[in-house]
Amino acid sequence: MDPSPPKLKVLVADDSPVYRKLVEQSLVHDHYAVLLAKNGQQAMDLFAKHQPALVITDWTMPDISGVELCQRIRRDYQQFYAYIILLTANTDKKEVIEGLASGADDYLTKPFHPGELQARVRVGRRIADLHHQLQAKNHQLQEMALTDPLTGLPNRRAIDVWAPRQLSAATRHGFPIWAIVADLDHFKSINDSYGHDTGDSVLKTFAEVLKSNTRQSNICARVGGEEFLVVLTHVQKENVKVAIERIREEFEIQKFTVAGHTFCVTASFGIAGLQATAPSDFSDLVSRADAALYTAKHKGRNRIEFAME
Ligand code: GH3
Ligand code: MG
Ligand code: MG
Repeated sequence: MDPSPPKLKVLVADDSPVYRKLVEQSLVHDHYAVLLAKNGQQAMDLFAKHQPALVITDWTMPDISGVELCQRIRRDYQQFYAYIILLTANTDKKEVIEGLASGADDYLTKPFHPGELQARVRVGRRIADLHHQLQAKNHQLQEMALTDPLTGLPNRRAIDVWAPRQLSAATRHGFPIWAIVADLDHFKSINDSYGHDTGDSVLKTFAEVLKSNTRQSNICARVGGEEFLVVLTHVQKENVKVAIERIREEFEIQKFTVAGHTFCVTASFGIAGLQATAPSDFSDLVSRADAALYTAKHKGRNRIEFAME
């Protein structure tokens, strides 16, 4: 049997015990988890604690009015959408307009017909569900926009978001920050000899070696075809050297086998640190690391080089 779907949380705010009961009884309990508030403040507290998908609120309450409750929910919970139905004894159109303008999605006049309340709550449920699906999708898209699909590493865009913040924190608090540009050696010939898919699995392996050797607080990203960027913080030069040497050595001993041929691949690294005297931006740091990488390639590859101070 399918597990029953989670109950939708509905917050009911009304200072009249009779109306609280009437609304509660109108809702089908199999589908809704009803939270009851006797006044506006209690409604705000319950909202903060449970973030219900639906709110049914009375207009006139002794402390915070229904209109004010709508306004506060819209102001304080911009990231979270709740569908709000105002219950009002007043049929004056001006008040209805005011209620909707304050952030309510719908209104119902007292005394209400239970069937009508149920129908309107179902509409609210549909809208709230759509809203939450949309939010989840957006979140997923944001993640995807910052992730390289081949290796699962952050991409250049993610670095562009993360690194400048780290750099300004490093400048402010005086901790060391290093940019390391890594590039696979003679990678074109791997593709040419063994095919693009093999090239891809070499890239994935390199990404795994990077990931397993960097702390959570640091970042490693794939920023181009066979180019990677690592940013390390809170480490001195000697330890950066040890950390990157470890990555270089771990990668060079990886064996790849294709159709009976076994081969190894190496990588070169260029490293630049923040110069305490000259406040630089992140692209300066990367340019200096790039220049060091160029030197590493020039000196024979499979090695690391520090940028000139
Ligand atoms: P060097 O040692 O000087 O870095 O030489 P290289 O051959 O590694 O560098 P080059 O820039 O000449 O070639 C990089 C190659 O990377 C060319 C390109 O086809 C390949 N490449 C780029 N992106 C991908 C990818 O996503 N998958 C695969 N398999 N290959 C890629
Ligand atoms: Mg290369
Ligand atoms: Mg390259």
